[in-house]
Amino acid sequence: MTAAETRIQALNDREILPGDYVLYWMQQSQRAEHNPALDLAIREANHLKLPVVVAFGLTDDYPDANLRHYRFMLEGLQDVEAALRRKGIRFVLQQGSPPQVALDLGRRAALIVCDRGYTRHQREWRWTLAAEAGCQVLQVEGDVVVPVAVVSQKAEYAARTIRPRIQKHVDDYLVLPRVVRPRHASLDLPLDSLDLSDIDEVLAKLKVDRGVPPVTAFFQGGTSEAKKRLRAFIRKHLAHYDKHRNQPQTDDISHMSPYLHFGQVSPVYLALQVRDAREGQGIDRAAYLEELIVRRELAVNFVYFTPDYDRYACLPDWARKTLGEHAADSRENIYSREELEAAQTHDPYWNAAMREMKYTGFMHNYMRMYWGKKILEWSAGPEEAFDTTLAINNKYFLDGRDPNSFAGVAWVFGKHDRAWFERPVFGKIRYMAASGLERKCDIKAYVRKVDRLVRKSEEN
Ligand SMILES: Cc1cc2nc3c(=O)[nH]c(=O)nc-3n(C[C@H](O)[C@H](O)[C@H](O)COP(=O)(O)OP(=O)(O)OC[C@H]3O[C@@H](n4cnc5c(N)ncnc54)[C@H](O)[C@@H]3O)c2cc1C
Repeated sequence: MTAAETRIQALNDREILPGDYVLYWMQQSQRAEHNPALDLAIREANHLKLPVVVAFGLTDDYPDANLRHYRFMLEGLQDVEAALRRKGIRFVLQQGSPPQVALDLGRRAALIVCDRGYTRHQREWRWTLAAEAGCQVLQVEGDVVVPVAVVSQKAEYAARTIRPRIQKHVDDYLVLPRVVRPRHASLDLPLDSLDLSDIDEVLAKLKVDRGVPPVTAFFQGGTSEAKKRLRAFIRKHLAHYDKHRNQPQTDDISHMSPYLHFGQVSPVYLALQVRDAREGQGIDRAAYLEELIVRRELAVNFVYFTPDYDRYACLPDWARKTLGEHAADSRENIYSREELEAAQTHDPYWNAAMREMKYTGFMHNYMRMYWGKKILEWSAGPEEAFDTTLAINNKYFLDGRDPNSFAGVAWVFGKHDRAWFERPVFGKIRYMAASGLERKCDIKAYVRKVDRLVRKSEEN
């Protein structure tokens, strides 16, 4: 089997049927380029002498999603529609439960192709589709560099255990899919679709949580925007990536996580662009690829092999034991979730981080670590702290609700980490102090940076 073939899994044992088109049900990989699921659909359709239709099911109640997430996603889908139109492919956007939209349109399909997601509901949707579709359903894994089952058959212990397993295969998978052009256009097929030309109108039709506003002053969704940002990152920031990884006052990071979360950019494409860049030193490129491939795919491995990935129970035994032993320790400060979300703590650095998250939908990795550690310190108990951290993470971050969200939050509580010196509240869980921020980075400059970002947000 070639590396490209190991990305494909048959989800049922039905036949390819006579049909009007091959359907690609797009869900995770929301892009029209470097998308192996779309490429497979086109190849199969050409072989069957049929057109391809790409469908997206827009649900009101996507777990934990709000207006901020929907706006960014719809901007990306606008890009998808335009790019598919240029290829002669019809993009159909229908309101409804995603697998139901796929099943309804799938009734006329010879074959259904879908992409792969790793969270609980994404997997359940694909099982429903595979069980109820009349024709064959093929899944294509295009949002990781190395497919999850090629890397490992179990939840990996830490980055150091997954790294060699990924490295063994990575060169085979750092290859972009060959561009395939459809031979039969589907643009004129009479299929109902929402009109994406006015995003506000589409949003008005949805009953989504409107409590968290969009962050268009900082992030616009879509593959074109992701590529533009990536080019700017490589040109201006890659050369500082290794040195500035723990320097939140700088902007020497790629901001690719929202685009990766919505599948608007391929991790293979990102990795190749950075690997082959002339900018920066080997150490910068290696540091970036470590985060993008090893750390990100450790998170995918965690979510895939850990049924309770979003619950306190997902933590390793040693972590729950030590946190349990310190659950009754007295705490100097306890803040409610409301006080935290209002950025009203005694700690100006933490408040700045919370404001960055609220107003921009993003936060530097180093501050995410500090932000999470303090919620553990300031909550009445560790289980409550876990739930609060995950809920706020997924509410405000554009890249929230991602495997990286669950792994990042679990890391705060000891997952993928080791035991440290014992101390109150934290037990043997790694601790972070405000004095550490003052020593290691220019934290005052970070606070000033956030003040500027908040002003920019208010001006918009
Ligand atoms: C408490 C906590 C919560 C987090 N929540 C999220 C979340 O909701 N969504 C999310 O995507 N990431 C999350 N992360 C991981 C990480 O902070 C972000 O992926 C990163 O900051 C995104 O910025 P960037 O794209 O500029 O990263 P860059 O530094 O430019 O890195 C490139 C890519 O590598 C991956 N990456 C970078 N750092 C990490 C990391 N520490 N772990 C795993 N992958 C990484 C990301 O996909 C990122 O886009 C969290 C980390 C912590 C400690």
